[in-house]
Amino acid sequence: MSHPVVVIGAGLGGLSAAIHLRMRGFDVIVLEKNSQPGGRANRIDDRGYLFDTGPSLINYPWVFEQLFAASGATMGEYVRLMPVDPSVKFYWREGKTLCLSSRFDGLAEEFSNFEEAADVKIARFIHDTAHRFRVVFDHLVTRNASSVASWIAPVPKRELFRLGLFTTLDRQLKRYFRSERIRAALGSYAMYLGASPYELPGTFSILPFGELYYGLWYPRGGIYSLVRAIEQRAREIGVELRYNAPVSAITTTGTRVHGVQVATGEFVRADVVVSNVDVPTTYQLLGRNPSSRSWPMTPGVITFYWGISADIPQLHHHCIFLPSNVRQAYKQLKERIPDDLPFYTCLPSRSDPAVAPEGKHTLFVLVPTPTISQAGESFDWDRAVSLAREQVLARLHHHSVALSASSIEVEHVWTPRDWSQRFGLYDGSAFGLSHTLMHMGPLRPSNRDPQIAGLYYVGASTTPGTGLPMVVLSGRMTAERIWNDTRR
Ligand SMILES: Cc1cc2nc3c(=O)[nH]c(=O)nc-3n(C[C@H](O)[C@H](O)[C@H](O)COP(=O)(O)OP(=O)(O)OC[C@H]3O[C@@H](n4cnc5c(N)ncnc54)[C@H](O)[C@@H]3O)c2cc1C
Repeated sequence: MSHPVVVIGAGLGGLSAAIHLRMRGFDVIVLEKNSQPGGRANRIDDRGYLFDTGPSLINYPWVFEQLFAASGATMGEYVRLMPVDPSVKFYWREGKTLCLSSRFDGLAEEFSNFEEAADVKIARFIHDTAHRFRVVFDHLVTRNASSVASWIAPVPKRELFRLGLFTTLDRQLKRYFRSERIRAALGSYAMYLGASPYELPGTFSILPFGELYYGLWYPRGGIYSLVRAIEQRAREIGVELRYNAPVSAITTTGTRVHGVQVATGEFVRADVVVSNVDVPTTYQLLGRNPSSRSWPMTPGVITFYWGISADIPQLHHHCIFLPSNVRQAYKQLKERIPDDLPFYTCLPSRSDPAVAPEGKHTLFVLVPTPTISQAGESFDWDRAVSLAREQVLARLHHHSVALSASSIEVEHVWTPRDWSQRFGLYDGSAFGLSHTLMHMGPLRPSNRDPQIAGLYYVGASTTPGTGLPMVVLSGRMTAERIWNDTRR
């Protein structure tokens, strides 16, 4: 190939694709619009408070280890992952709480507050779902496939029916747990995948399983230490990274990619372009109208980054505050901010004091919202921020969490509009394209453009899907696709 491969965007998907391509012998240039890597997994550094902007929970650590191994290195030499256990604490308004853990005894004791014979039921859930998890991981999320038939071909028919593709997440969980609270907690991850647990395929019961069985992890120094480590490894193997380089157009000769136009005026010639930009936003770079087809997107988020001058001993590293009526909250989320606000808090300084000034805390609060178009043109985001701030503080107070507005000495807030402007997230959707049955596997946008030869995609809105481990896998899968295509 006479020109380097151009990767647009230094999110974790883009960095992973760049590393895998470089290791296959391609020259690779990454063009990133912002001044630093990571995309959604970014960093705000303010007066000694180090905030991770987006992801805060790390699952499946082996995926990141494999990325370093593929580049000829050992992850532990670059960044250390620490387990967070107990992992997540759930709160209900009525006062009940539930702490998840990878330690079976502790978990059984917590579940027994809600469910009879909890130990037997957890054991059954773990046993059955472990099997599903292996099938999904070995066959469905780690391989390129061009059609549904070739996607499911390696999965024995008997196994296929057991995966829960044709039931809902809530129904799948109901096979093990009668308690609505336990199901609400284990099903709460559905929100990040763009549907309620009453709509999302039952296959996604592998998510709570993965967290219980393989644990939750935290890189020392914050999620951004992992991003920096991956960026450093990319540089070491010879990937060229250029920041403040926003791509304004992908040019083609009709059916073949020709190069990319950078907004600074430079044109970079390329036979292969990999876009890490959200797929519908990439359509805009191609002069295509993304609204010519429908893109069911995951929700938006308002994110608060609070530097807290006091201790908050009641808060765990990860907490989720659930609404009393989960179904209603999911329904309302499609058009407005729910009345009874569900939200997530992350206090990384609980496990890692180095991310805050001495004796102080960094607190991240994630409030789900509709996307920009769902909220509508006239939606007042400033008012939504004020209301969300009030509601979060009131709910924390309700649970005797000692956090007052006066102890917030640093505040940054990002709405879906900020997320969209900073990282090109289509419609302000935080996690990309939804993962309903019709948007899984080869039914998601392919990582190879069907019309333009030489144009590929990587990241949350292509295959296999959203989340840091998935976009890292996406990088490997896109590189494999390119390798196979260029050898042909
Ligand atoms: C608030 C929040 C919380 C989350 N929590 C978790 C979590 O706890 N655990 C988890 O695993 N996942 C989580 N996620 C999901 C996870 O962050 C994403 O799935 C993942 O980071 C997406 O990576 P990506 O490489 O696909 O895209 P991105 O991170 O969006 O990267 C795309 C890159 O392209 C760049 N770009 C865009 N347009 C251009 C252009 N025109 N020219 C050049 N560059 C451009 C952007 O600046 C960006 O750097 C969370 C996401 C959000 C928003």
